[in-house]
Amino acid sequence: MNKASKIYVAGHRGLVGSAIVRNLKDKGYTNIIGKTHKELDLTNQLEVRKFFKEEKPEYVFLAAARVGGINANNTYPADFIYENLEIQNNIIKAAHDFKVEKLLFLGSSCIYPKECKQPIKEEYLLSGYLESTNEAYAIAKIAGLKMCQFFKRQYKDNFISCMPTNLYGPNDNFNLQTSHVMPALIRKFYEAKVKKLPFVEVWGTGKPLREFLHVDDMADACTFLMENYEGEEHVNIGTGKEISISALAYMIKDIISYEGEVRFDKGKPDGTMRKLLEVKKLEGLGWKYKIELEQGIKNVVEYILKNNILSL
Ligand code: GDP
Repeated sequence: MNKASKIYVAGHRGLVGSAIVRNLKDKGYTNIIGKTHKELDLTNQLEVRKFFKEEKPEYVFLAAARVGGINANNTYPADFIYENLEIQNNIIKAAHDFKVEKLLFLGSSCIYPKECKQPIKEEYLLSGYLESTNEAYAIAKIAGLKMCQFFKRQYKDNFISCMPTNLYGPNDNFNLQTSHVMPALIRKFYEAKVKKLPFVEVWGTGKPLREFLHVDDMADACTFLMENYEGEEHVNIGTGKEISISALAYMIKDIISYEGEVRFDKGKPDGTMRKLLEVKKLEGLGWKYKIELEQGIKNVVEYILKNNILSL
């Protein structure tokens, strides 16, 4: 990839896509293209093919997907599997037909089995049953990863994929019905502070462990892989560190200086109890995360306050 290469970031307005665009610009890449959902419907095969034929991107970051937290995944499984398969099938096949130099497909750590040995190595993929709350999304992502692998094997296409851990950052989804835990808790604690509410409700037992990576680190790892990795196997992207949902809740409470109570709603699902990625492969290639969790959360809180994202 050289600084003038034509780079298409699919999903450039999303949490990850927007961070990839920032990272590419910071590194001096000048020819980056993106299309909004209105301009290009990625579930429409004809539109996607027309776009690739006309624009001829040389490099593709496939960061477009229908995403959501535990509640959204549970409620809309049909939409999650269908839309994600459509988006990735259309883009990967068009990238093949219109001779894209290299493509990076972005998956997610929920593709690994529910009862997976920890920390999770890349090779543990498909070694057991999936977590039922996000099975639809996971099946689609596994199909995308395999598709890249098989196009590489059969046609020598330079298509690679990576599996990030739970991500967070400024452009996150702060809607409580569909968001992941990090933006949800930031919103809940902030709202409770402003409205002087006596307690904040955290879903589940608080015992599940999760690993969190700031999206700016994720974007940096993506451009690093695009520049340095050609293997058939996907690469985990994470910090290698984990925290309980309960400890996370108290960390956010402190950062926001909320004085009320924290309550756990055990009627809500915990999901997978542990989901820690092994990141030795990525570290072996020469990349390591930079943003520590507390600093990362402070950045997000500052961003949403400055830009009035929660508009309370
Ligand atoms: P997951 O990592 O795929 O399970 O998705 P989430 O980020 O949605 O949930 C992670 C964990 O945080 C689960 O155990 C949730 O029950 C828990 N959690 C606690 N409070 C919340 C909340 O307000 N929203 C969400 N989405 N999860 C929460």
